[in-house]
Amino acid sequence: MKILRSQLMGNWYPADGDSLSTLHNPTTEEPIGQASSSGIDFGAVVEHSRTIGGSALRELSFAQRGELLISMSKAIHEHREELLELSMTTCGSTRKDSKFDIDGATGTLYHYGALGKELGEVHVLPDGVGEQLGRSAIFWGRHGRVARNGVAIHINAFNFPAWGFAEKAAAAILAGMPVITKPATSTCIVTERCIDTIVQAGCLPEGVLGLICGSVGDLFDHLHGQDVVAFTGSADTAYRIRSHQNLLRRSTTVNVEADSLNAAILAPDVESGSEIWNLFVREVCREITQKSGQKCTAVRRIFVPQERLEAVEEAFCEELSGRVTGSPFDDRVNVGPLATAQQLSSVLDGVSQLLQVADLVDGTGERVDGVGAKPGQGYFFAPTLLRSREPGGADLIHQLEVFGPVSTICSYDGEAPTAACLNSRGDGTLVTSVYSDSEPWTFDLLRRCGSWSGRFYLASEKMMSQAPGSGIALPSSLHGGPGRAGGGEELGGVRALELYSQRIALQGSRRVVEGFIGD
Ligand code: NAP
Repeated sequence: MKILRSQLMGNWYPADGDSLSTLHNPTTEEPIGQASSSGIDFGAVVEHSRTIGGSALRELSFAQRGELLISMSKAIHEHREELLELSMTTCGSTRKDSKFDIDGATGTLYHYGALGKELGEVHVLPDGVGEQLGRSAIFWGRHGRVARNGVAIHINAFNFPAWGFAEKAAAAILAGMPVITKPATSTCIVTERCIDTIVQAGCLPEGVLGLICGSVGDLFDHLHGQDVVAFTGSADTAYRIRSHQNLLRRSTTVNVEADSLNAAILAPDVESGSEIWNLFVREVCREITQKSGQKCTAVRRIFVPQERLEAVEEAFCEELSGRVTGSPFDDRVNVGPLATAQQLSSVLDGVSQLLQVADLVDGTGERVDGVGAKPGQGYFFAPTLLRSREPGGADLIHQLEVFGPVSTICSYDGEAPTAACLNSRGDGTLVTSVYSDSEPWTFDLLRRCGSWSGRFYLASEKMMSQAPGSGIALPSSLHGGPGRAGGGEELGGVRALELYSQRIALQGSRRVVEGFIGD
C-alpha cells in the first residue's frame, strides 16, 4: 500500500498519524494508498511559499516563467506510460480517458509555456491603451496588471488529478504566483506522481509548487488579501469555502468551478441521418460516457424537437450499444468504473430520483458487473439514458447533477426561445452545445440565453471536419460558467492570468507610465 506524501517547503511529508484516509482501486476495491496531512504546520507552509517561492518567481519575466512551464510539461511527459497505467489503476479510467487527463496536463502546461514566451521579457501585463488625463499629454494614464504578492491555493476535484492540477498551476506560475495544490484525496496518487517527476527533474525554484495530500487543515486561517483560492468541486464544498470567516474578513479572492447541468440542443433544421445529425449523436454519446460521465463538461440534458424524439432515441441506443463497461485493463472495455464507492452510491441515488420524473431509454439504472472484473466487485455503472415524462422536463432534471454516465432527453417545440428558456433552467452551465446549420436560429438562441453559459459550442456542417466535441476545455477558450457552475473563470489564454494579478491604474508622466508597463 502506498503512503502518500505532501511536498511542502522543499521536503516530502509522508502521511502519518491517526486520521489516515484509505484510497481504493475502483475496479477491484482493493486498498491502494493512505493519505493524511495531519501534523503539517500550514502557517509556515504558506509563509514559505509567499516569501521564498513568490520572490523567486516575481524576479523572472513571463518568458522565463514560460520556460519553467515547458520543463514541467516535459518532466510529466517523460513518465507518460507510467502515469497512464497509474491513472487506469487508481482512477479506473480507460487508457483513452487517462490520456485525456495526462496529455491534457502536459498540453496545457506547454500551451501556457509558449504563451509566456510570446509575452516576452517583461513583468507587467498591459491592460488597454494609455490615454491623456490632463490638459496635455504630460499627464498620462494607463492600466496594467502585476503579480499578487501571495500564494495561490488550488483545490481540485477527483476526476482530473493531472489536468486539474496543471491547468490551474500553469496560469498562476505564469502570472508570477507560487502554488500549493490540493488534489481530491481519492485520486491523489496521480497528482503526487506528476509532482514527483517535476521535483526530480528540478524544474522549479524552491517554494514555487507545493502539494497537499489529505485535508487543508487550518490553511485558510493563514491566508490574506494577496492570496488566491481557486476551487473545483461540488457546489456544497464551494459554499463552505466561500463562507470561510477568514477569507471573507481578509477579502481573499476565491474562484469557483462547480456543478453544471450542461445542455446539448438539437435545432429543428437538422434532418435525421444528415452529417450534422450523425455528429450530434456521436459527440453527445461521447460526452455522456467519456471518463464514465465524471466530467464537469459532460452533457446532462439533451433538448430535442418533439418530432425528432423517436429517431434521436433510436440513434442514441444504437450508438450506446457499442459501449462496454468494465475493467480499464480489458481491451473490450471503453467505459471504466466510477472513481469511488461514494460516487457509485451517489449516482445510484441520483438516477433513482430522476426516475420519478423520467423513464429509462437505455441502461438499467443499477450497478452492473464489469467486463474483465470479478463479479460483485468494482464501482461499475453502465451508461444510462432517460427521457423526461413532461416536455421540457420537470425542475429536477434541470437541478440535479448526477456525476456519472447519465443524461436525460427532453422534448421541446423546436423554437429558439423555448430552447433558450430550457438552457437557462440549469441556472448557469459551463458549456452548452448547439447543433444547427441555421444562423438566424442560433443567433436568436444566443441573444436570449448567452449569459447563462460560460461557453457555447456551435456545431455546424462547416466546422465538423475539425470538431473536437463540447467537452474539451481548450486552454485558449474560457472555462467556467455563471450561477450554479460557480461564477468562476479559468483558462482563456492570457485571461487566466487575471485571477493571479492585480489591476493597477498608473497616473503620471507618459514616460514613467509607459516605461513601467513595458517593463
Ligand atoms: P468535492 O467533494 O466538493 O471535493 C472537491 C475538493 O474539495 C477535494 O479536493 C476535497 O478534498 C476538497 N474539500 C472537501 N471539503 C473541503 C473543505 N471543507 N475545505 C477545503 N477543501 C475541501 O467534489 P468532488 O466529489 O471531488 O468532485 C465532483 C464535483 O466537482 C462535481 O459536482 C463536479 O461537477 C465538480 N467539478 C467541476 C468542475 C468544473 O470545472 N466546474 C470540474 C470537475 C468537477 P477531499 O477529497 O480530501 O475531501
